[in-house]
Amino acid sequence: MRPLSPQFRPYTWALSTVEIARRAGIAPEDVLRFDGNTPPDPPPVARPETIAAALERIQSYRHGGFPELLRAIADYNGVEPENVVLGPGADNLLMLCARAYAGPGNRIAIADEPSYPLYRVAAWVTGADVGDVDPVLTFVCRPHNPSGAMVEIPKARPLVVDEAYFEYGGETAVPLIGDGVIVVRTFSKAFGLASARVGYAVADLETAAELNERQDPAPLSTLSAALALAGLEAGPPDVSATIAERERLAAALRGLGLEPLPSFTNFVLVPDARAQELYEALLDRGFAVRPSPGALRITVHRPEANDRLLEALAALS
Ligand code: PMP
Repeated sequence: MRPLSPQFRPYTWALSTVEIARRAGIAPEDVLRFDGNTPPDPPPVARPETIAAALERIQSYRHGGFPELLRAIADYNGVEPENVVLGPGADNLLMLCARAYAGPGNRIAIADEPSYPLYRVAAWVTGADVGDVDPVLTFVCRPHNPSGAMVEIPKARPLVVDEAYFEYGGETAVPLIGDGVIVVRTFSKAFGLASARVGYAVADLETAAELNERQDPAPLSTLSAALALAGLEAGPPDVSATIAERERLAAALRGLGLEPLPSFTNFVLVPDARAQELYEALLDRGFAVRPSPGALRITVHRPEANDRLLEALAALS
């Protein structure tokens, strides 16, 4: 194979639920995960009827793509369908952007590091390095993972703004698509469809057309497209309960003497000198949070689950 940057490290997943259960000596269904930044429950559209029509035609290719889904995404974002590029998850669009702009010998910049680890992988697999000197492309995560902050939009162009958590924060860079900005979104977070693997990019007409030419010929399954369309037809996701629960969780964490950062997402970052130790001790008790350098990232779960995590943290502090 073509050698990659000596910097290259592959993306790593968290422990599986089965592995955590084994470690904690409990049943897998008793493991509580606070590390995926996904909602705790599937959305109402996740039912067999939503995909029934697609199943009846599953033997054939979807000639002509997904015009209804493109129209619905365009309407949701106040753009035209020709501004939209579909892909199997935001990760796929981030990798598509990296390979469209970068190759061996180039540099890709990442704002506000540490940030979402996939940007580094996306840069490296093109043969590029990660660095700030004369980058051919810059990635920014806004709202930011893992801090939860509504970071500034960098001046660098071309710029990919990863808005995976847009619905929780409400601010978007879509008005900047005429100015060298590509916005990447997902159905994995507020729409609750992470396993369906649907994401999209919004860009100016020329950039979107070029990205579509460089995208796989049939990037989405018809089942996933049906779920995403139904999700949009159900109206913009209502994130108010998640936001209220996030604030309750943050207040309770402060009550334990912890200092969660203000968040515009469905998670909170808690800086703590004992982060790694707490992470391990929580795993031993069947709770998975996401370790970050000197901090724990905690996804907002159901209130009862959050209470159980709070009890475990109280016992550990
Ligand atoms: N961007 C960010 C910032 C994320 O946190 C995630 C989820 N881990 C993704 C993209 C990936 O989203 P998807 O499931 O659509 O590939």
